[in-house]
Amino acid sequence: MGETRHTKVLIIGSGPAGYTAGVYASRAMLQPILVQGIEPGGQLTTTTEVENWPGDTEVQGPDLMVRMEAHARAMGCEVIADYITRLDLSERPFKAHADSGTTYVADAVILATGARAKWLGLPSEDKFKGFGVSACATCDGFFYRGQEIVVIGGGNTAVEEALFLTNFASKVTLIHRRDELRAEKILQDRLFKNPKIETLWFHQLDEVIGTDSPLGVEGVRVRHVETGEIREIPCKGVFIAIGHAPASELVKDVLETHHGGYVVTKPDSTETSIPGVFAAGDLTDHKYRQAVTSAGMGCMAALEAERFLAEQEDKAALAAQ
Ligand code: FAD
Ligand code: NAP
Repeated sequence: MGETRHTKVLIIGSGPAGYTAGVYASRAMLQPILVQGIEPGGQLTTTTEVENWPGDTEVQGPDLMVRMEAHARAMGCEVIADYITRLDLSERPFKAHADSGTTYVADAVILATGARAKWLGLPSEDKFKGFGVSACATCDGFFYRGQEIVVIGGGNTAVEEALFLTNFASKVTLIHRRDELRAEKILQDRLFKNPKIETLWFHQLDEVIGTDSPLGVEGVRVRHVETGEIREIPCKGVFIAIGHAPASELVKDVLETHHGGYVVTKPDSTETSIPGVFAAGDLTDHKYRQAVTSAGMGCMAALEAERFLAEQEDKAALAAQ
């Protein structure tokens, strides 16, 4: 049997939303506990330069997240390396069961579990995952020094990954299913100017091809989305960068979700369909999905949790009279 820990506010997730909620909840003297999950620091730890965090013209994603953690801790937030496996929101106090065996019992919960990379779902993609197929250029780019690489996708992530991979690769082919990128214009400019990057429009990945022994990628088979014409492109690495899906597994059966799993919050609020449960960051945001918007929602969630707890105390005091 693991231990049971009570807290006024349990924050689940250690991205910009979680750490910002940690700063605000601590300053409200709520002594929050923050559970980090398997990716301490969240998605920004998988990138390099961040150029749109206000106050820093350029900051490395992992450095920014180390600073956010230190800030939350300095304000009094207890940051714990653990992973919530099951959440019971059926009655208050809420219960969060963790991988370590600990049960966190909380008067209010702030969900900040963010999002994670989507995969295409091809059997060959699965087969070569970790052996030439990756969804994280900063994690795996180094393995492809002097090699040819393909990147699949047309958003900010795909373009940033393609640019970053030119630090290692001899050539990067960005493969996109349309002839227009979703990425910001400044990133597109950099992409089109980079002599190491070729863009292949109107193509989709059909199959990753490679060897079984040793397991390794030799190329990709891609298909023209209109003509159906198939071609093969030799490469040693395939980076899938087709977006992110909300990490809502803990709550998808008990909270209202929309747009493919994003937790619904009330307008201009982080309140969910269960009083005392708040959601912030990419978990709720199918539209902006930025570090700064996530941090903003983390702030809102902590302020709303504080107000909720104060109201509960007032009600309890009235009932006791
Ligand atoms: P996340 O950062 O997704 O963090 C989620 C956290 O929840 C993680 O710590 C995880 O461990 C934790 N967690 C999940 N499940 C559990 C569980 N069951 N128990 C406990 N913890 C759990 N945005 C920008 O503004 N500028 C950029 O330059 C930029 N670059 C990016 C580059 C890349 C490659 C990617 C992928 C994204 C980038 N973004 C950028 C988007 C930005 O990273 C996200 O909008 C932001 O990180 C979302 O913050 P979050 O706090 O909602 O969640
Ligand atoms: P995204 O913006 O959703 O883009 C996903 C891309 O993948 C789109 O171009 C999409 O094509 C393509 N795609 C999706 N499913 C596909 C499939 N099955 N097959 C082929 N292609 C597919 O995702 P993202 O680039 O990961 O960005 C996520 C969020 O993080 C965004 O809000 C983004 O702004 C943010 N972010 C910001 C920065 C930054 O500020 N520098 C960096 C990275 C990420 P279509 O275009 O045809 O739909």
